[in-house]
Amino acid sequence: MIGTLHIVSTPIGNLGDITLRAIETLKSVDLIAAEDTRTTRKLTTRFDIRTPLTSFYEHNKGTKADYLIKALREGKNVALVSEAGTPGISDPGFSIIARAIKEDIPVTAIPGPSASIMALVLSGKPTHKFVFEGFLSNKSGARRKRLEALKKEERTIIFYESPHRILKMLKDLLEIMGDKEIAVARELTKKFEEVRRGRVSEILDYFNTKGVKGEFVVVV
Ligand code: SAM
Repeated sequence: MIGTLHIVSTPIGNLGDITLRAIETLKSVDLIAAEDTRTTRKLTTRFDIRTPLTSFYEHNKGTKADYLIKALREGKNVALVSEAGTPGISDPGFSIIARAIKEDIPVTAIPGPSASIMALVLSGKPTHKFVFEGFLSNKSGARRKRLEALKKEERTIIFYESPHRILKMLKDLLEIMGDKEIAVARELTKKFEEVRRGRVSEILDYFNTKGVKGEFVVVV
């Protein structure tokens, strides 16, 4: 019997957001492939999950995928978890999911949090049509070019951003798309959760004064 790849969503901050099915699945599989084993270990310790962990991250995803596919072919059930949220959404999960599907390995998902959807619904922006852009390039030229290409986008756009680049990204957004009404969400589900809604210039002023900390989602 061939095993199943379970794509398991985990909390984006608050461990209380784990689902009952996620706990059951992580307990019952043979192996958990985790983007960051240290983060996942906090989760498994908290919920008394004793399944062995193996790392699956950006720099070992090629060789590790061979190992995981072999384990699945031998009948092992494998859970895939990312550092936070839904595996495959702006993390290395996509490559193993696509490969398992291509190789006719059964794949299922345990749904749960994603920073993208939480930020979208909290933004107050239209939710009936939206587009997920993930991270813009860390290179200024490529970032600006992508923003130029998105100027005519009519749907709500969701971007992920790191604390190191959020100010640069907001400056580029202001210059290229104008002083739009946007929302910036940070530290979702955590103690310092915050959603700022307003013009790009106002939000830039705010974070320039306050300083930037945490992980960000920008909704345009
Ligand atoms: N797979 C994750 C998901 O489903 O949301 C996203 C992984 S991606 C590597 C990490 C980025 O997601 C962060 O840089 C940030 O943009 C966003 N993010 C993750 N957790 C967040 C949180 N608690 N608050 C705000 N943004 C978050």
